[in-house]
Amino acid sequence: MSITEIDKQYVAGTYNRFPVEIVRGKGSECFDADGKRYIDMGSGIGVTAFGYADEQWQAAVTAQLSAVQHTSNLYYTEPCAKLAEHLCTRTGLSKVFFANSGAEANECAIKVARKYATDNKGEDYHVILTLQNSFHGRTLTTLAATGQDHFHKLFQPLTPGFVTIPANDVAALETAVAEHKVAGILFECVQGEGGVLPLDADYVKAMADICAREDILLMADEVQTGNGRTGTLYAYEQFGITPDVVTTAKGLGGGLPIGACMMSEKCEGVLGYGDHGSTYGGNPVCCAGALNVISRIDDTLLAEVKQKSAYVFDRLSKAEGVKSVSGMGLMIGVECEKPVGEVLTACREHGVLALSAKTKLRLLPPLNIPMELLTEAVDVIMEALK
Ligand SMILES: *Cc1c(COP(=O)(O)O)cnc(C)c1O
Repeated sequence: MSITEIDKQYVAGTYNRFPVEIVRGKGSECFDADGKRYIDMGSGIGVTAFGYADEQWQAAVTAQLSAVQHTSNLYYTEPCAKLAEHLCTRTGLSKVFFANSGAEANECAIKVARKYATDNKGEDYHVILTLQNSFHGRTLTTLAATGQDHFHKLFQPLTPGFVTIPANDVAALETAVAEHKVAGILFECVQGEGGVLPLDADYVKAMADICAREDILLMADEVQTGNGRTGTLYAYEQFGITPDVVTTAKGLGGGLPIGACMMSEKCEGVLGYGDHGSTYGGNPVCCAGALNVISRIDDTLLAEVKQKSAYVFDRLSKAEGVKSVSGMGLMIGVECEKPVGEVLTACREHGVLALSAKTKLRLLPPLNIPMELLTEAVDVIMEALK
């Protein structure tokens, strides 16, 4: 049997895979089992921030792999401590809980909000507000947080205590805060899975003001937008706010599973001994990889992300077959005239791997994609969009 056939027979049928078996990659290029070369404009859904088999990242990971691959959280390890220190120093946040995925990072944030509210306002203040069209993960609790009904239907009952409100509607937010005993608000600065839609800057500021006024935790889900993806280390920086909690995952590990829930001074002490945990959380190999990734997301790299973003926006917004282009940095959504499935197929046939988000084409190239490859990929995408 071919790999495709074995996979179809034995792997749970939750993924509608493209008919491509990736066997190796280098930087922003990868190759399938037939030796066909692709430019990667998806980065494994925003994960491989420095592409495939990046040498610096590989060196950091393999050095740790040869020393200690896992210890559990009963012991200290350098990569975990240093990564937490680096994240806090760069963001001004105070403490980090390490998880293994985006959904788990958000689970931690939700626990922090509920415990903070219990400690400060009373147990009945447990409601978490989230926005329509949001995406926060696939666990039963993060599905409850996800503001898209079609994810909910088959899995009732979900975790109670979540209220979904329309995005960019300050009046609706004020009403929800008045009607419910709210512990926290979880939101994406740019809704990723929902169609690469940045929130209105005024709305984000209003959210921050209302949270400060009501002592509600403002929690930014930066699982997709984080780690340089939007042109700043975290997207919230561009909205002029300081969240109480920031979650991230995807690009943080450069390809190894890691999630982080970062807490500000206000709630840094909320989780105490035994309040939360994860066997793999803070795994030293994943942390060593993440420390390498995050310490290379410096001003020079971020300036390049912004330049490349402007280049893609400029070319695609004038392209034939394009209705609109949205997003921030190298997180770009393209509303196409053709069905997005057709665009993706044409891209793939011509050697470009891309993604969709709802009906849009979604581009999340490696942050360090060389200009020549970006240009070549945009040429292919423009042909595919026609
Ligand atoms: C991908 C994503 C998640 C879920 O991350 P997993 O690692 O798949 O659990 C949560 N929030 C946002 C905004 C995401 O884009």
